[in-house]
Amino acid sequence: MGRRKLRQRQAEEVVKKRQSEHFSLQTLRGMRDICKNEAEEWVKFTQMIHEVGKMFDFNYLETPILEHSSLFQKVTNDDGVGVLNKEMYNFVTQGEDKVTLRPEITPGIVRAYLEDGMQSLRHPVKLYTMGSIFRYERPQEGRYRESHQLDFEMIGVEYPIAEAQLIQIAFYIFRKLELENIVLEINSLGCRDCQREFYKQLKRYFARVKPKLCENCQIRAKKNPLRVFDCKEESCQEELKDAPLIMDNLCKACNKHFKEVQEYLDALQIPYRINTRLVRGLDYYTHTVFEFWREGDEVRRQNALGGGGRYDHLVEEFGGKFTPAVGFALGMDRVVAELLKKKKKKSEKPFVFLAQLGDKSRHKALQLFEKLWEAGYYVKEAFTKTSLRTQLRIAKQEKIRWVLLIGYKEAIEDTVIIRDQVSGVQHIIEQDKLVKFLEDKKKEEEAEKISNLSNS
Ligand SMILES: [Zn+2]
Ligand SMILES: [Zn+2]
Repeated sequence: MGRRKLRQRQAEEVVKKRQSEHFSLQTLRGMRDICKNEAEEWVKFTQMIHEVGKMFDFNYLETPILEHSSLFQKVTNDDGVGVLNKEMYNFVTQGEDKVTLRPEITPGIVRAYLEDGMQSLRHPVKLYTMGSIFRYERPQEGRYRESHQLDFEMIGVEYPIAEAQLIQIAFYIFRKLELENIVLEINSLGCRDCQREFYKQLKRYFARVKPKLCENCQIRAKKNPLRVFDCKEESCQEELKDAPLIMDNLCKACNKHFKEVQEYLDALQIPYRINTRLVRGLDYYTHTVFEFWREGDEVRRQNALGGGGRYDHLVEEFGGKFTPAVGFALGMDRVVAELLKKKKKKSEKPFVFLAQLGDKSRHKALQLFEKLWEAGYYVKEAFTKTSLRTQLRIAKQEKIRWVLLIGYKEAIEDTVIIRDQVSGVQHIIEQDKLVKFLEDKKKEEEAEKISNLSNS
């Protein structure tokens, strides 16, 4: 190769390398594709939400994911240390507009309510949506910078039944998804009058403990004392132990409102816990706030399934007339992850095949089938087949190791033949001892799997 050609080739390689530095096949940190198994669950989930929306008479809407930054600054009362402020994706566009990828959905909906003339509709205006939100936080297990929420809002309703109805919808969704062990936490943040009085007390309290609070909380304590409750620092949480509670400062009307919410929840038989320290980090909440947790997670205070609350003054703050409202959101990524976990459990391959030979044995096999399922075994059968050979062939096709066989003799004697398809070894045991036998075999198999894994 000539010298010139070599130099040319080296130059080309440098250009190529530079290009590859700029081009990446990876998603941005904290973002991900929704595909394969997850996408399948995702579609089912969103279809179900549309059904729920229809059932409870909510109208679907979509708002842009990009809005003027001022929309979100208005709701976060830019104090520079609010969780949301630090985590927002803010940009200046080519046209020099200051814009923000929405960190939550409600402000966009309230803007749409005003901009699209929904004030003239019959109230409450009931809206729901699903879509992305963006928060520039450190990605953690199960938390993303782009995540997805479903969101239900009732605008123009002051009665506490609205909170109950929204919580009812959330629980209906959980039930539909067969998600159990949901913990509902509720609290009241009172009206603006209650809050004014409470802030005074809090500020007085924080003035005393201030040196012990973290840097951020020292600023919060002055500007936005309620936010200190959201601080994750242990030292701050420690100082909050003796802090005054808003619950002790509620006016008569607020007390009544909160009590009525509880009465409705009782009527709906939805269990709840009152968490007097629940504040939900945003200034616009008044009266009831609530959060949904998977049992156990609420102790660690990480990864709530969702939550919501009343925001009676937000429409007014956006320039509309006084319009009380309430809403909730659920994290879709989190919910779908829970569904996938459950599905994985269910779709294990069958553990035993239940074969039978003769009428009497079929009766016994039917009974045994149910008993085994109840004991937690995935059982495959072919009760419509009379030929043993056919049944064994099916067991083989399904790659099931343990075949249980009940013939005439076994049916009379309440025993069962267990055949190990791998070794060909057969045992006869009493039906009563079958579950225990399978349990032992399952444990052995699991132990084998683990030792195989560590050997390879
Ligand atoms: Zn009040
Ligand atoms: Zn703090």
